Amino acid sequence: MLAKKLLSNKHIVVIGAGISGLSMAKMLQNHCKVTVLEKGAQAGGLIQCKELNGNLFHIVGGHVFNSKNQTVLNWFWQHFNKEKEFLKAKRNAAVYLNGKRIGYPIENFIYQLADEDAKAIVNELVQLVKTNQVENRDNFRDFLLNKFGATLYNLYFGPYNNKIWKRDLSKIPLDWLAEKLPMPKINEILQSNILKHQETEMVHANFYYPVKGGSQFIINRLAEGLDIKLSYAVTKIEPTTKGLLINGGEIMADQIIYCGDVRKLNSIFATDNASITKATNLVKDLPANGTTNALCETDETDISWMYLPEEKYKAHRIIYTGNFSSTNNAPAGRKTCVVEFSGQYTEAVVKEELIHLPGNLTMLAYNYHPDSYIIHEQNTNNLIQSVKTELAPLGIHLLGRFAEWQYYNMDKCIESAMSLADKIKLMNENANTN
Ligand SMILES: Cc1cc2nc3c(=O)[nH]c(=O)nc-3n(C[C@H](O)[C@H](O)[C@H](O)COP(=O)(O)OP(=O)(O)OC[C@H]3O[C@@H](n4cnc5c(N)ncnc54)[C@H](O)[C@@H]3O)c2cc1C
Repeated sequence: MLAKKLLSNKHIVVIGAGISGLSMAKMLQNHCKVTVLEKGAQAGGLIQCKELNGNLFHIVGGHVFNSKNQTVLNWFWQHFNKEKEFLKAKRNAAVYLNGKRIGYPIENFIYQLADEDAKAIVNELVQLVKTNQVENRDNFRDFLLNKFGATLYNLYFGPYNNKIWKRDLSKIPLDWLAEKLPMPKINEILQSNILKHQETEMVHANFYYPVKGGSQFIINRLAEGLDIKLSYAVTKIEPTTKGLLINGGEIMADQIIYCGDVRKLNSIFATDNASITKATNLVKDLPANGTTNALCETDETDISWMYLPEEKYKAHRIIYTGNFSSTNNAPAGRKTCVVEFSGQYTEAVVKEELIHLPGNLTMLAYNYHPDSYIIHEQNTNNLIQSVKTELAPLGIHLLGRFAEWQYYNMDKCIESAMSLADKIKLMNENANTN
């Protein structure tokens, strides 16, 4: 349907100016005309930050950067001065249990738990080795139980994950979480407890953080030199013989990189093609949780994250963003942190909750973001793949956390953008040689 043109003559429209869309636009910028359309008044999506009276508010959690993929790191550092513009920090996290700070990841700090819990955990781990259940990976609940035993599950993994996902963990398939989960072997857990080694394997065990501006700094730098239209919501995409018509004629694209929510495509994409309609219809009700975040002043602490598994707290973690960079705090104020709740809580409920958390917290700002944690069901990957397969021949490609419905961190968004940019370049070359 689309006219054959060299990539250099094409107009690619990227929908969404989050990390996925901007990375993609940057990767294609020197190959063709690229326009980014963003419905928000500020670029950044989930990693947006706002400055409030000298304090930096990560409006959805607190974002730090790292990657295990050297190609992603190489690409990323092309855009920044790593030494001057970023701070490198070691993750120093804790779990708050019974009013006491336990090291993180908790399985490496069993010796800090009450004696009876520690004994039960060791017995269960030994039993798991004996019964050889450690590789059971059918669903999230069984994975956690068979990896860590019932006591660690009941103390931490179960209640913490129940708070985040707000659903029966045995109904959550494991394949989509697999790469993001800690996968320590039992001998490694026991060794860590005896030798007291620090964690090194998790992607954010060490991380980079901008000296100034938090993750918004990353966005602003990537946005430089790009053609971005803010406050531009794409509400309609229509395939025509000349290309893909956006919002009824304002912009014509040869190809579209869609970084918005895959659930909205059913209403945005105007087509009488029954199989596309069927594919987009099947994903329109995928479940997700939003997050409520409160920027607070806090007493000084030396940690970066504190996890709150206990049911008596509605929040699930405190992110000490004021410790990530001193420029995140107003000079005259106390240090700042973000308290994160999965789901929607009113400002009044959040204020009441803060009283019970450690650190003498005072709320400075509040935000609710409707979609932050995507949730998979058994067939979700297949459904998303069908949408991708249906739309790709029309020149519409899905990219990012909500378009691909993947539990991506920033680095995975960049990795996915790299792979899609390569595919687009290749597809265009092939189309023009056929
Ligand atoms: C609480 C929390 C903490 C996290 N912490 C970290 C961390 O420390 N490190 C890390 O690497 N990752 C972290 N992540 C993951 C990270 O936030 C995401 O991977 C990343 O921000 C996703 O970027 P994206 O561009 O795919 O999506 P988004 O950021 O959602 O961007 C999509 C953009 O598209 C726009 N858009 C949508 N529909 C339309 C439309 N119709 N028209 C125009 N524009 C549209 C949206 O407004 C948005 O700006 C965290 C996530 C959460 C929820």
